[in-house]
Amino acid sequence: MSTYASPAGFPELADLLGESIAAMRGWMSEYGAYEPHPSLDVPLDELRAATAVLHDRLRDNYPFFHPRYVGQMLKPPHPAAVVGYLTAMLINPNNHALDGGPATAALEKEVVADLARMFGFGTHLGHLTSSGTIANLEALFVARETHPGKGIAHSADAHYTHGRMSHVLGIASHAVPTTAGGTMDLDALEALLRTGTVGTVVATTGTTGLGAVDPVHEIIPLCRAYGVRVHVDAAYGGFFTLIADDTPDGVAAAPFAAIADADSVVIDPHKHGLQPYGCGAVLFRDPAVARHYLHDSPYTYFTSDELHLGEISLECSRAGAAAAGLWLTLQVLPLTADGLGAVLRPGRRAALAWADLIDASDELTVFQPPQLDIISHFPSRPRLSEVDRASAHVLDAGVALPPDQALYVATYTVDGPSLAARGHRVDADVASGRILRSVLMKPETEGWVPALHEQLVGLLPR
Ligand SMILES: *Cc1c(COP(=O)(O)O)cnc(C)c1O
Repeated sequence: MSTYASPAGFPELADLLGESIAAMRGWMSEYGAYEPHPSLDVPLDELRAATAVLHDRLRDNYPFFHPRYVGQMLKPPHPAAVVGYLTAMLINPNNHALDGGPATAALEKEVVADLARMFGFGTHLGHLTSSGTIANLEALFVARETHPGKGIAHSADAHYTHGRMSHVLGIASHAVPTTAGGTMDLDALEALLRTGTVGTVVATTGTTGLGAVDPVHEIIPLCRAYGVRVHVDAAYGGFFTLIADDTPDGVAAAPFAAIADADSVVIDPHKHGLQPYGCGAVLFRDPAVARHYLHDSPYTYFTSDELHLGEISLECSRAGAAAAGLWLTLQVLPLTADGLGAVLRPGRRAALAWADLIDASDELTVFQPPQLDIISHFPSRPRLSEVDRASAHVLDAGVALPPDQALYVATYTVDGPSLAARGHRVDADVASGRILRSVLMKPETEGWVPALHEQLVGLLPR
């Protein structure tokens, strides 16, 4: 297979999809011929014309596939994910229950077991979800059931979903201050645990803003001493477990190894797992938490006494196609250092290399060293208002260039204390301001780092 850049650029995609369509049609034909209903019969030229309009409308997008897009957590899925997803979608199974699609339910159980193995869970209960948000909601829901009346603690830099979903669940949430590395301050956490009001701590391995990795290996023993549950939000960073080996182009081993002892973990295959959107996952180490999901359904659960995935999920309908996409991807890029790990390592190297270039430049300053593949930096200016203006200028000027030159970065809002905590002498003349942030999640980025750096410097206002 040729090098992955985007499935649309993968020459054999149409062939593979053609083979899948033929295979599914062959299976369907075994059930005998029947007439499609005329109500569904639309003139082909109408469909063509409407599709042409869609093609045109989809041009209103940012080039997530291109190495000059180093903005948000976005990239196209792998061709294998597209083939897997679309093939199963021709049948459209619903992984709510075995009645809705035994094949994709089996595929889901396999990929969830693969994820559990990657994290080192000896036992597990888990399922795919439509997103990291829903996956975290489920983990916090179970946390509320196991620790009734107690609150949730997460770092101030954790994803906003934790505060929001705690509110949905009617539980108190506490934002624990962060260190100069953007990770949870353990002294502040312990002070909070001493109050006895917290039942569950959320550790984040890879914050959405800075890619900071909370010290899960220190948080777990601390929480155990207070009888507190630990949930790990690895929505973004979970797949870095594959390269958490303390090597020069890997990431810190200890926090990721410790996930094995957490009570639950969330990971988003639709972020670093090369999947289309609609693929998160939640895993629990103790299968007995299934009791918190107990419900009956008068509509489903007929075909088998085996566990139906809907019996351990808060969502009802879920795309069986999502399981097929992930399953097929993991057949060709397994959860090993040489498999999917080799897809993540170049982005890690890119972040380190770019941070070095920024460090060596007069024009830019590293905000904090990258812990994963996300870099944060800012135009070297004396005042925060000027940092903000220059950062915004890079963002706007990059997007305004013609398509074959445009540069897409993202910004991140910081304040005076967060700059001072990292030793940056920037006069906080405004309460908060934007710095620059880039997510380097495509392996192609590595080869582009020098050119991207040069272009970014050239976009700075004089
Ligand atoms: C992206 C992300 C989420 C939310 O996941 P969605 O799939 O976008 O709903 C939660 N936590 C972290 C750390 C994330 O990076």
